[in-house]
Amino acid sequence: MHLSSFFMKGRTVNRKTFAKKRTVKYTEKTMNSTNKASIINGKEIALAARERVKAEAASLRSKHGVDPALVVVLVGTNPASKVYVRNKGKACEEAGVRSIQHDLPEETTQAELLLLIARLNADPQVHGILVQLPLPGHIDEHIVLEAISPRKDVDGFHPYNMGRLVAGTPQLVPCTPYGVMRMLEFIGYDLTGKDAVIIGRSNIVGKPMALMLLHKSATVTICHSKTKDLPAKVRAADLVVAAIGREQFVKGGWIKPGAVVIDVGINRTTSGGLVGEVHFDAASQRASFITPVPGGVGPMTIAMLLENTITAARLAIGHKAKA
Ligand code: NAP
Repeated sequence: MHLSSFFMKGRTVNRKTFAKKRTVKYTEKTMNSTNKASIINGKEIALAARERVKAEAASLRSKHGVDPALVVVLVGTNPASKVYVRNKGKACEEAGVRSIQHDLPEETTQAELLLLIARLNADPQVHGILVQLPLPGHIDEHIVLEAISPRKDVDGFHPYNMGRLVAGTPQLVPCTPYGVMRMLEFIGYDLTGKDAVIIGRSNIVGKPMALMLLHKSATVTICHSKTKDLPAKVRAADLVVAAIGREQFVKGGWIKPGAVVIDVGINRTTSGGLVGEVHFDAASQRASFITPVPGGVGPMTIAMLLENTITAARLAIGHKAKA
């Protein structure tokens, strides 16, 4: 059976159907003028991941007496950060992961923040530490991220964890590209020999994404604001990952027929809605698979944060991280 029928053209597939048909693989689609891409439903995939986290958290408690706990540190009053932190806390609660939040005032000094991190690093009841970015201007983000114990670094931003990702022996990896890999795995997309184009080279998304795809034997091109003829690069890609920070920047006509399109972007419109970086309607006419915004990569990021917290709790009792 072809995977496109299982994803049912733009409609949500119920979870039982999903689970039963998981082994169905991606196959190259024959494109025609009436083609519409299959939607990769991040909400559904994330929900399944969160249920697995819930089971693993329960197992850690019953078998090892470990109560997985994530500490989120918020400095200041950035409204978007407040929403992200609240969502993370809620997701933890639903997955049976203990969540502790430290709200620090804007004027907190770097030394005070480092002192709190040192205390959390030393606390055996704390498994994951996340410092919400951006930090106020007077605090050096790099110094703060490097102060977090690499074994509790659930964002995967510590140079040690970045280095392990480069070396191909990952321990804790950045949640957003990790979530993208999960989505590709879910649709059974074999990356071997595929031409992948990533638009964006941030430490949070673009660079770790490139490494993860490379380790799966894709041929990766990383594009950025100085790239020449971006549309031509995208036109040659079997897989496009857009992480630019610019609303509907990638045009439908750039997409190679049959390509898989992953839209990482979260851009707020003037009317308060969310849009991605790909022109969704036009790209859907050419892509074989595409992620929506909202409901695509976003929910996966939080689910992978929970998974990383479980991995950190396992590391604390001497288990190895899954490669
Ligand atoms: P970022 O740090 O601002 O990086 C943006 C990248 O896009 C940079 O590498 C930049 O190139 C490149 N770029 C900018 N304009 C370009 C152009 N005209 N042509 C080609 N490349 C261009 O952003 P980020 O943190 O990676 O985030 C990217 C997007 O993903 C944002 O919309 C963000 O909200 C979203 N995001 C979503 C999630 C999620 O959970 N779904 C998580 C994180 C981020 P230069 O390096 O040359 O400046």
